[in-house]
Amino acid sequence: MNDIIQKLARALLQSSSTVVFTGAGMSTESGLPDFRSAGGLWKQYRPEELASTDALNRNFENFVSFYRERIETLGEVKPNKGHLLLAEWEAKNLVTAVVTQNVDGLHQAAGSKAVWELHGTLRKVRCQSCGTEYPAGRYSSESTCEKCRGKLRPAVVLFGEMLPEKALSASMDIAASCSLFLVLGSSLSVSPANMLPERAKRSGAKLFIVNNTPTHLDSAADGVIRDAIGNVLSAADEILREQ
Ligand code: ZN
Repeated sequence: MNDIIQKLARALLQSSSTVVFTGAGMSTESGLPDFRSAGGLWKQYRPEELASTDALNRNFENFVSFYRERIETLGEVKPNKGHLLLAEWEAKNLVTAVVTQNVDGLHQAAGSKAVWELHGTLRKVRCQSCGTEYPAGRYSSESTCEKCRGKLRPAVVLFGEMLPEKALSASMDIAASCSLFLVLGSSLSVSPANMLPERAKRSGAKLFIVNNTPTHLDSAADGVIRDAIGNVLSAADEILREQ
């Protein structure tokens, strides 16, 4: 494994543009439960049922309770060393941008500036009717818009909704023009996000994957590492510091 981390560190140094793609595995290392395993009160529902336009329209009370809980959980988590290292690497021009499937805002909390959130953010809520945005804190006591009394919903992509066009097309563009694409904690199973590494690879970028489980792109990758992201990035960072 050390050889692959050496290889990754070398690729980071040689790359003129590096895109980091993060999924749920990045956040679970901060102790944030994968929302697919949301338990307790919500055991009787599949997450797809609550995190959906259907629930927003027809089961608003449960929809609000579900997201209230998720937003509250967010207040208790902090960026982990993986998040912090990515922000440091951005400041040192080793990382160009982070594209994330996560909605917890932990990359920004760690100090990353160039972040594309493909699934939106739980840090804000917005009015389903007039689009006015509020800090997510409003959701703990209010579920309607101050201006029009419309329903408030988190600024995330719900099941039944399209990904934000701007974030998606910008991500596609940087994937196509980067020279290194690094996947952290994603099984690359969710479309269209899984198209990003494919596009990068096709355009000639090196591809590294750090994930606990196999992905369909493992055989195409220049390096695959099955270890905690924080450990891998720390080890790579040590090598970078020796250069
Ligand atoms: Zn409104």
